[in-house]
Amino acid sequence: MSRPIVAIIGRPNVGKSTLFNRLLKKRAAIVDDEPGVTRDRNYAPCDWSGKSFYLVDTGGFVPASKNQIEKMVRAQVEVAVSESDVILFLVDNKVGAQEIDLQIAKRLKRTKKTVILVANKVDNEKEETDVHLLNRLGLGTPVAVSAETGRNIGELLDRVTEVLPETAAEEVEEEQAKTGRNGKTEKEET
Ligand code: GDP
Repeated sequence: MSRPIVAIIGRPNVGKSTLFNRLLKKRAAIVDDEPGVTRDRNYAPCDWSGKSFYLVDTGGFVPASKNQIEKMVRAQVEVAVSESDVILFLVDNKVGAQEIDLQIAKRLKRTKKTVILVANKVDNEKEETDVHLLNRLGLGTPVAVSAETGRNIGELLDRVTEVLPETAAEEVEEEQAKTGRNGKTEKEET
């Protein structure tokens, strides 16, 4: 089975669960359960523009202390980097980039996985004006969406399907190991 994995990551309250649910509503079709795959709220098969992938919401339980939150987010990022093919890094555009967002961005710059920076909570055109401020995260121009209202969600799904690999992470890496095409290794990451 080689359906690529798309993970949604970000600090608590940026809208990960809302985006997850929104993407599931928007997708063209739910794919039936496949053998060996447990379907639950945070892990769902998706089809869009004739391409299939698994969408994973890495959110969930949020610890109380700042330290614990940072630890949890860091762990989330490591899981996404090792297990997914495409990472949707969600930032709350209403509050802008926080210290923890900068830390996540720094880590993501060292992965060879495709990262799409998503500015969430851009609920109307007026709020688009601030989106460029997130360029300082160094992950390119963000895709501005509103998970709550559905604004630009189709565009985000188009971006995701454009960058989806034909095969899932493990197979891609085996292929790269064989051909030696990829100059960068996960070893560079700490
Ligand atoms: P998570 O902790 O990252 O999973 O964040 P949630 O999905 O639980 O959302 C946190 C809060 O942000 C909730 O109150 C949502 O209703 C709100 N929220 C999520 N997306 C949007 C959005 O696009 N616009 C606005 N205005 N609020 C949003």
